[in-house]
Amino acid sequence: MSNPEIESVLTEQRTFAPSSEFSAAARIGSMDDYRALYRRSVEEPDAFWAEMAEQLHWFKKWDRVLDWEPPFARWFSGGEINISTNCIDRHLDSWRKNKAAIIWEGEPGEERVIRYQDLHREVCKFANVLKGLGVEKGDRVALYMPMIPELPIAMLACARIGAIHSVVFGGFSAEALKDRINDAQARLVVTADGGYRRGNIVPLKDNVDAAVEGTPTVKNVVVYKRTAHDIKMKEGRDHWWHDLIEGASAECEAARLDPEHPLFILYTSGTTGKPKGVVHSTGGYLLGVHLTSQWVFDLKEDDTYWCTADIGWVTGHSYILYGILSNGATTLMYEGAPNHPQPDRFWEIIEKYRVTIFYTAPTAIRAFIKWGDQWPKGRDLSSLRLIGTVGEPINPEVWVWYSRTIGKDRCPIVDTWWQTETGAILISPLPGATPTKPGSCTLPLPGIVPDVVDKNGESVDDNQGGFLVIRRPWPSMLRTVYGDPERYKQQYWSQVPGVYFAGDGARRDSDGYFWVMGRVDDVINVAGHRLGTMEVESALVSHPYVAEAAVVGKPDDLKGQAIYAFVSLESSHEPSDALMDELKAHVVKEIGAIARPDFIRFTQELPKTRSGKIMRRLLRDIAAGSHTVGDTTTLENFAVLTQLMEEEE
Ligand code: ATP
Ligand code: MG
Repeated sequence: MSNPEIESVLTEQRTFAPSSEFSAAARIGSMDDYRALYRRSVEEPDAFWAEMAEQLHWFKKWDRVLDWEPPFARWFSGGEINISTNCIDRHLDSWRKNKAAIIWEGEPGEERVIRYQDLHREVCKFANVLKGLGVEKGDRVALYMPMIPELPIAMLACARIGAIHSVVFGGFSAEALKDRINDAQARLVVTADGGYRRGNIVPLKDNVDAAVEGTPTVKNVVVYKRTAHDIKMKEGRDHWWHDLIEGASAECEAARLDPEHPLFILYTSGTTGKPKGVVHSTGGYLLGVHLTSQWVFDLKEDDTYWCTADIGWVTGHSYILYGILSNGATTLMYEGAPNHPQPDRFWEIIEKYRVTIFYTAPTAIRAFIKWGDQWPKGRDLSSLRLIGTVGEPINPEVWVWYSRTIGKDRCPIVDTWWQTETGAILISPLPGATPTKPGSCTLPLPGIVPDVVDKNGESVDDNQGGFLVIRRPWPSMLRTVYGDPERYKQQYWSQVPGVYFAGDGARRDSDGYFWVMGRVDDVINVAGHRLGTMEVESALVSHPYVAEAAVVGKPDDLKGQAIYAFVSLESSHEPSDALMDELKAHVVKEIGAIARPDFIRFTQELPKTRSGKIMRRLLRDIAAGSHTVGDTTTLENFAVLTQLMEEEE
C-alpha cells in the first residue's frame, strides 16, 4: 500500500518464550494447543461458545447461541442466569465455602478476609436492603465508594436482584458524579462517609450531598461507615448501611435473568473525549470474563491474585470481581495509594500475602521506575509467577524493566489489550504458550477476530499501520451506549463499514502479532507521513533519563504538523538544552529522521485521566497555543495543565 493509514517506524526484535516449567503447569501450555483452540473457535463459533458456556451455572439453558442483527447482538437467547449465583452460590457446595473470596487491606493497614460463605451472607443481606428501599429489577443504582469490600458486595447485591449498577470512581468530583447519576437516572446512591487515600480522607459523602442537589431521581442514599469522621445525614434520605443491614435476612433468592439483562453501566475513561456510558449484559459478559480469567491469568485454585485497578474502571469490574470470583479464586483488594506511607507499599503487599499473580497498568509501572529500583528490590517478590499490564501501550523499555525488576526474568508478562466496551480481554499472550515481544499484545484470544484495515475496511499488509477492528461479535461486547443507541452505531459500527471500530491504530507483524500504535485521533501527520504516538514515545522512553513521554502534532505551515514532545525525566536528572538535543538525536538514531521531535518540552508530570492515561488531546491544544482545551471532567491533575498553559504564553 503506497499511502498507509499509519506508518510504522519501530522495530522491536526481542522475544521472550515462557519457561518450560511454566508451560508444563499451565492450562494452555503450547502454541499448538492455542492454535487448535483458536481454529475451532472461529470455524465453529456457535458450537465453541456453547461448549464454553457449559462452564457457567444456568437456571435454564439457552435456545440459540447468537442472534446477530448488526450491530445489535443477543447471546444465549432463552436462557436464564444470575451472575451472583455464578460468583458465589455455586462455590458453596464445595470446600470453597471456607475459601477466601476477598482478601482486603485498608490503606491504614487493617486486614479483612471474606470467605465465600461470608460473601453470600453479606450480599444476600444487602440485596434485601435494596429491595426494602424499593429497588426493583432494571432500576439503576449508583455506587460511589472507596475500595472496600462493601463495593463488590453492593455490586453483587444489585446483580442478585437484577438492578443495574453504575460504579462511579471515588476520585471523581461531585459534578462528575451528578452527571453520571443523571445520565443513568439512578434512584439510589450507595456511598461511604469517606475513604483513605495517601493518608487523607476522601470526602465521598460531602460530594454525594452536593451531587444529589441536582439529581431528582435519587430518593435514598446508603452510607457505609468507613472513617467515622463527622458527616451530615439528611433525615429521610440518608441511611447508615449498618442500621439497614441489622435484621435483614441472610437469604435472598437470586433473580432468574435473561442473559441480555443489563448488568451494569460504566463510563469510559474520557481519554479521547467525553466519556461514553457503556452498557454490558449479564450472560455474555460473564462468559467473557470467566474464560479470559482462565486463559490469560492461568488462574489456579491456590493463586493469590491481585489486580491493582480501582473497581471504578472496567478492569476492576471484570478482573477484581466478576471473572475472578466466577472461577472460585481469591482476589486481593487494596484501598489506597501505591506510595503510602512509602513507595514500596505494593511490594510490601506482595511480600505479605504471597501474591502469585499481579496485574497493573503502564502508568503505575512508569511511576515505579521513576521512584527508583530500591523499593521493589527491598522486598521479597519471589511468590510472583505471572505479571500483567493493561490500559495503555507499554513502551518496550518499560516492559523490559517490568520483566526484570518485578518479574525477575522468571514471570511471563501478559500485555492485555481491551476496552471498557469489549468487557473482557480480546488480545493477549497466553502465558504458558505465547512467546512475547515487548510492546506487543500479541495474538487474539479464542473466538476473537481482529484485523488491521484501511478506512474502506480492507485489510492492510503486514507491518502496515491501520485501524484496529474486530470482525465478528463476541459474547462480552457492549450492547449499547446507555440511552443513545445512535451513538453506539455511529461510534463503533459505522466508521469502518460493518465491523467494530476500536479507535486504536495498530499494525500486525509477519508472525500475526498485534502492536497497538496509539489512538487514531492522536496520529501525527508530518510532511505526508502519518505517525502513531506510541513508537515515537517509546523511542524517547528508551533513553535512560526519560521516565515518560507524550508526543502530539503542532500545526505547522510547511509540514502540516510538527512533532511536539512532552517529556518527564527520572528523578535523578535535570532538564537542559544539551539534553534536549541529545533526545532529538536519540529518536533519530532509534527510529529515523522522520520522527525527530521539532520541539521538546520538559515537565514534571503529564496530564492524565483519573484512570492514569496520558491525555494527549489536552497537550495538543497546549502545543497549538490555544487558550481553551476540550472536556477536562476526567482530568486527574489539573495543576499540571494550568502550569503548562501558563508557561506556553
Ligand atoms: P475514552 O474511550 O473515553 O477515550 P479510554 O479509551 O481510555 O477512554 P478505556 O476503555 O478505559 O477508555 O481504555 C481503552 C483503551 O485503552 C484502548 O482503546 C487502548 O487505547 C488502551 N489500551 C488498553 N489496553 C491496552 C494495551 N494492552 N495496549 C495498548 N493500548 C491499550
Ligand atoms: Mg476508548
